[in-house]
Amino acid sequence: MVEEQILMRPENAANLSPDSVAEFPVSPPVYTDVVVVPEQEKDVLQNLISNLESEIKQLRIKQRTWDEKRRGALRRILDIKGSIRVFCRIRPFLLAEKRRGSEPVSAGSERIWMKFGGRKKDFEFDKAMVCFEIEPFAESVFVEVEPILRSAMDGHNVCVFAYGQTGTGKTFTMDGSNEQPGIIPRALEELFRQSSVDNSSSFTFSMSMLEVYMGNLRDLLAPRLCNKAYEPMSKCNLNIQTDPKGFIEVEGLSEVPISDYAKARWWYNKGKRFRSTSWTNVNEASSRSHCLTRINIFRHGDGLEARREVSRLWMVDLGGSERLLKTGAKGLTMDEGRAINLSLSALADVIAALKRKRCHVPYRQVFC
Ligand code: ADP
Ligand code: MG
Repeated sequence: MVEEQILMRPENAANLSPDSVAEFPVSPPVYTDVVVVPEQEKDVLQNLISNLESEIKQLRIKQRTWDEKRRGALRRILDIKGSIRVFCRIRPFLLAEKRRGSEPVSAGSERIWMKFGGRKKDFEFDKAMVCFEIEPFAESVFVEVEPILRSAMDGHNVCVFAYGQTGTGKTFTMDGSNEQPGIIPRALEELFRQSSVDNSSSFTFSMSMLEVYMGNLRDLLAPRLCNKAYEPMSKCNLNIQTDPKGFIEVEGLSEVPISDYAKARWWYNKGKRFRSTSWTNVNEASSRSHCLTRINIFRHGDGLEARREVSRLWMVDLGGSERLLKTGAKGLTMDEGRAINLSLSALADVIAALKRKRCHVPYRQVFC
């Protein structure tokens, strides 16, 4: 190895007299390393480089094969578990319910028992989870969601939604609190984490948010004149279109690129602020609409033959079904409750049709 010292001077230094050069302030020397490889070692090094390159190629092929196997195994696990799975999450009693002396619910791992007017009834689920006052969220709900996220990143369309009566904890499960982030913020974080460790593909993501309010579709990420929730939206009552391949698309729905978790959280919080909520007897901030968060996942394989795949992850916080007498809703709040009840019973028809693998699934009735 030969080390050369190159002293840098201004370009016109050559034209200066020796005296003026002496006066010229000396610049600090800049050192560079020049590696001179002896001729006889050149071939050896070139051989080494090409061996390493072919080893990398082999490892890439191996990684792709393992990745295919992993995807296949996950697909089989999810097939065995079922493409529609229902989990029951039982929240702790709220203060008012404790005062009322509400009947406790008991639960096994897949079954819950409740008392209705002196009679005991039981319900079966894929998994039942009882939440205690201080609950490790990751242990219960998110553990079930993680493989579903992996499946979405593998190219499958996935939908996770919370369904139940008003006040049962749907928004808490999907959105959570600062101390206990719910499924949506945790899923966003997990998508970026998984994409950063996946060497076989590169991922890009975009996000859309909409709400179904009184039978209308509203774009929650549409640009507005100011950031106020009561400001009229520029995109209201959007249309649903079915493309020639049978995919369902919401015409004109805003879609924002999300390059990292911080951006995704920023857009998600922004969309959430514009969602319709109001007060009822059973919930201080009752969601008056169905709120849908859609993540578009673009996956690019690393091979030459790799295609770009697009999949969608929907995370939905549904409005709660309501017994209008119990909620004490009046006027607009009562109309909202009616619209929610109607669309939820239509959703039940959709799920029943999907479960029975019927050729006609009545999707459109949900937006009645
Ligand atoms: P929904 O969206 O089903 O109408 P919310 O998510 O708004 O119901 O929950 C109603 C109330 O119950 C809220 O005050 C919420 O903080 C509380 N809650 C719901 N789930 C839990 C839970 N797992 N742990 C503690 N509090 C909860
Ligand atoms: Mg809610």
